Amino acid sequence: MGAIVELSAADLEQRLARVRAEYERFRARGLKLDMTRGKPAPDQLDLASGMLALPGNGDHFTEAGEDARNYGGLQGLPEVRALFSKMMGASPDRIVVGDNSSLALMHDCVVWALLKGVPGSPRPWSREAAPAFICPVPGYDRHFAICEEFGIRMLPVPLTGAGPDMDAVEALAADPAVKGMWCVPKYSNPSGEIYSEAAIRRLASMPTGAPDFRLFWDNAYSVHHLTEERRQIADILDLCREAGHPDRAFVFASTSKITLAGAGLALFAASEANVRWYLARAGKRTIGPDKLNQIRHVRFLRDDAGLQRHMDGHRRLLAPKFAAVDEALSARLGDTGVARWTKPAGGYFITVDAMDGTAQRVVELAREAGMALTPAGATSPYGRDAHDRTLRLAPTFPSLDEVRLASEGIALCILLAGLERARAGRG
Ligand code: PLP
Repeated sequence: MGAIVELSAADLEQRLARVRAEYERFRARGLKLDMTRGKPAPDQLDLASGMLALPGNGDHFTEAGEDARNYGGLQGLPEVRALFSKMMGASPDRIVVGDNSSLALMHDCVVWALLKGVPGSPRPWSREAAPAFICPVPGYDRHFAICEEFGIRMLPVPLTGAGPDMDAVEALAADPAVKGMWCVPKYSNPSGEIYSEAAIRRLASMPTGAPDFRLFWDNAYSVHHLTEERRQIADILDLCREAGHPDRAFVFASTSKITLAGAGLALFAASEANVRWYLARAGKRTIGPDKLNQIRHVRFLRDDAGLQRHMDGHRRLLAPKFAAVDEALSARLGDTGVARWTKPAGGYFITVDAMDGTAQRVVELAREAGMALTPAGATSPYGRDAHDRTLRLAPTFPSLDEVRLASEGIALCILLAGLERARAGRG
């Protein structure tokens, strides 16, 4: 249909009327579709259904011959830490295995840092005047929620397509009140971007005003490829050590989107001092994690090759859904100039930048047509998207047919909101 900015006033009116009529027809279908949260679909969970019978009766002994049904084993079984060593980029002694949620580990690390400080802290973070975190945008709303919950100021920096704007990060990190930074370095939530080696090197080596600055390195999607190429990123723990900042990174991941999202394993990796710090705090909180689940994961995945093979199964289910979104958006919006969107090579999300000033309207139009979208602004700290343009689409949970239908509907809403805005702009 061509770029809408080039339409004459009469053509714009005509187009608006036609698209509005199409939208009304779509709305009249009374659909109920949900593209809000990045959850695995039931068929993805079925890939791990073999786990439900593990460990079998009598098979509850660890490699060291210990009874996994009992208390203890705070750091996690050595065989589980070995299984995830490659994925975490750390030797097994630098890994801790927790229970089912890496978000819970991040939450605990923030709370412990506030109350106790981290290795190298002159005082607990809560005793600083106004501790702050650097927040790449668009980012993960639950990271921002942790900061908001505990009164940590959030300092947004733009993402570039290959990681955060490092000039902006370095300028902010020079302030001693800036204690940390959220990073989702691979197949990021929601932009899908992969941090470049140059950006990762700068994060590891930049001077920071705070001696106890921490990168919260949330590698939630490290093995969640959508193409046959298994993309690798630079190893943050190695680079921090080489740069003389061995304690700078806390690395997190989990098997929530590898095995079972409600019954996976959460993982923490860091320097020796950080692991000691973590275990000293964790030991007050629990007598030990669920080691039967750890055994279950070892029996099921076996080794890194088994883990990668398992992820191939996810890719085969997910890649068609991501392709369906791209096809629907391209078909409807291709040359209109009202939106740009990502084509991620991994992860769980597609980010759409609609026309400035229209994201809230798109979400409203979608809701009225029976489609739930993540609230506009959710991917920015405090829910404030200064441009009101970023939308996060989560195509993993609905069926392929539902994704196709929802994407057509969303494209229609983006176009209608863009046309409305273009008309308002011309007065
Ligand atoms: N980190 C990121 C970037 C995520 O997108 C998600 C879930 O969507 C999580 C963490 C949650 O991880 P977990 O299930 O291990 O708590």
